Amino acid sequence: MVSDLFKKFSQKNFSKSDLIELLHFDTNLLCAKADEIRKKYKGNAVHLRGLIEFTNICKNSCYYCGLRCENKKIDRYRLTDDEILVCVTNAINFGYRTVVLQGGEDLFYDADKICSLIKRIKKYDIALTLSIGERTYEEYKAFKEAGADRYLMRIETTDEKLYQKLHPNMDFENRKKCLYDLKKLGYETGSGCLVGLPNQTIDSLADDILFFKELNADMIGIGPFIPHPDTPLANANKDNFETALKVMAAVRITMPDINIPATTAMETLRENGRIIALNSGANVVMPNMTDTKYRKKYELYPNKICINDSPDKCINCIKSKINSIGRTISSSKGFRSDLD
Ligand code: SAH
Ligand code: SF4
Repeated sequence: MVSDLFKKFSQKNFSKSDLIELLHFDTNLLCAKADEIRKKYKGNAVHLRGLIEFTNICKNSCYYCGLRCENKKIDRYRLTDDEILVCVTNAINFGYRTVVLQGGEDLFYDADKICSLIKRIKKYDIALTLSIGERTYEEYKAFKEAGADRYLMRIETTDEKLYQKLHPNMDFENRKKCLYDLKKLGYETGSGCLVGLPNQTIDSLADDILFFKELNADMIGIGPFIPHPDTPLANANKDNFETALKVMAAVRITMPDINIPATTAMETLRENGRIIALNSGANVVMPNMTDTKYRKKYELYPNKICINDSPDKCINCIKSKINSIGRTISSSKGFRSDLD
């Protein structure tokens, strides 16, 4: 019985096979349950976070990503600190209470550079999230002491064999260690996975969810994998929207009080994909604050939305979509415990 299974989750008494069963459910049923739980635990407010894509230079060569160092076809860029600060002040003027600094693993930004940037940004009354990949414990500690509040780093997949195949010169154990280090240091820690990677199974997606739970992640972003033509996975399966939506809904059912973004990749695969996600368990949107002239170059995957738009257009567009489904915009900084 469907209701018996949901009951196991509400009583936090479920097994991996229950999760697998959940992931095989009818999509509408799963999404409706996730929406109900979102409403009960997170309310109707949607948190907006301004995303600043400050460098597309990356030392890694993740098989799925357009920014991988082996992709010679993209034009690389780095924003100066002043350019980043302009994005931050614009975000504040648009009413954002939090920004996310995201980039490739670009070692030009050593710990000192990142710390001085954090201090400049934290002069303003906003929450700051970093998403700059794997660093040492000492670096994470320094960033925290400089004022960073949150950190986003997806595990991508907990299938170790698949992880090692897709991430040459990276180490699965180290990625896990980084996430536990971030939690230990008191960051609100976001993780997540890609859905639809070649040879990824429902079984391994269930493991991903169990990992998020074990980590006690504060935010989980679920992204449908979208093949990029200039990567080794160019010819992989293209439409992973529905599976990603189901995994996202299952995450909400499993971890009722965390923050869950309606990811940009979902909107890339479906018109109004983020609204569908907001109606299926999500409560966060991360509109792009990057200047129009750099957006095209931050091509993690093809056909990214809004690449010709400006930050003000993005915020107005998403705000009206959010209002159109009867949801409000949060005025808080969007920590896990913030409810308005
Ligand atoms: N370098 C940092 C942050 C930038 S990448 C890091 O790797 O953590 C941000 C996210 O983009 C990654 O976590 C990955 O899940 C997602 N991504 C990369 N390539 C993608 C693709 N082809 N389809 C969908 N998402 C992708
Ligand atoms: Fe670099 Fe992140 Fe892309 Fe991997 S996913 S190549 S670490 S930007």
